[in-house]
Amino acid sequence: MTSTTAGASLVLRAVRVLDEAGGFTGPVDVAVTDGTVSAVGKDLAVRPSHRDVDAAGLWLMPGIVDCHAHPGLPSFDAFELLRTPLSLRTLESAQALRRTLEAGVTLLRDAGGVDAGVRDAVSRGYVPGPHLQVSVLPLGPTGGHGDGFLAGPALDCTTDYTVPDYPGRPPFTVDGPEEMRKVVRLLLRSGADWIKLMATAGVLASGDGMFTAELGAEEMAVAVAEATRRGKGVMVHALGGPAVRAAVEAGARSVEHAVFLTEQDAALMAARGCTLVPTLAIYHELAAHASAGELAGAAAERMAQVAPKLGEAVAIARAAGVPVALGSDFGHRDRHGRNLAELYYLTKAGLTIEEALLAGTAEGAQLCGVAGKRGRIAPGHAFDAIVLDEDPGDLSCFLQTGAVTAVFKDGVPMSPHPHLAG
Ligand SMILES: [Zn+2]
Repeated sequence: MTSTTAGASLVLRAVRVLDEAGGFTGPVDVAVTDGTVSAVGKDLAVRPSHRDVDAAGLWLMPGIVDCHAHPGLPSFDAFELLRTPLSLRTLESAQALRRTLEAGVTLLRDAGGVDAGVRDAVSRGYVPGPHLQVSVLPLGPTGGHGDGFLAGPALDCTTDYTVPDYPGRPPFTVDGPEEMRKVVRLLLRSGADWIKLMATAGVLASGDGMFTAELGAEEMAVAVAEATRRGKGVMVHALGGPAVRAAVEAGARSVEHAVFLTEQDAALMAARGCTLVPTLAIYHELAAHASAGELAGAAAERMAQVAPKLGEAVAIARAAGVPVALGSDFGHRDRHGRNLAELYYLTKAGLTIEEALLAGTAEGAQLCGVAGKRGRIAPGHAFDAIVLDEDPGDLSCFLQTGAVTAVFKDGVPMSPHPHLAG
């Protein structure tokens, strides 16, 4: 099966459909012609070339857009990564992509770790996976988040285990505006769809890393200018502090995580049309690990500090009118396939059910520059869709796998469903 074949032509009868406002319609028909939704309405008349499918009792949504995931980063164990051949890393990312697609994600924005070759292999149908927009490598300063330096005895250790080196791979530690200009150009040459910047430390970092800006405003401004010149966007990892404002002022399209978002930051994001991608699921999992005693000293303390704040940023963003899009931040191999849990956590953070469903679909499509083509079940949109056998209710069904019973990508069924087979 390839994902680039002209999609199927079919009509789903009497299915409930997620509408523009994030609610589900009563039973309607959805006609799909050559992989694109051609009509939504009652008692649609279609050509005999369309397969007629009784979908009564089923619920239909656009495929989920995960705006922040790492299918290319399978483990946090440095020594495992150091021992892993590049071929194994690449093929494992294919497995992660298949599981992510089967979970219901039909468009994924890589936040670092997936190169253009993997994206193109998926679009050519060599391996199943969501449509991909890739950032290839996350850029940060020497000694910053993502550097990966291992201090050891008699060892000037490579950092090229986090994203293994290969011919043509740009560097991922960047110091100073001119180096940033060069590396961004190298990334764009290598086929990056996005530039990903690491502007603060990670959530488990020691010290004041969550608030200290690791990249300067000038470095971020150069990255945005170079990306914009080629029509590409910049996404910025920033947990809080002045880096958030600097990222937005530089022209970032989205700020990632932003656990410590302030009302002032949010007002600026709203004014600039910058999207928040809060990545709640991963933090809730880390908080659970911390409270179960599974994180070591400083990391556990960090999570204890962060856990009570989880979701506050979403509430602040919502009040300010900042667009919120779904991002799972799933990278580790244990997590792929449970990406839709983020929908539930968005409601826990204060989005309505309707807003959470739109954050996972239309808002993601908007951020990824494909609004009008993906992210809705409406005429003219690609039939990237998921099927549920039951009303998703309060969205807690997405905390486990299994709620999504069929996935379509460009009209092509990617997983079998007993009602929809044929
Ligand atoms: Zn991430």
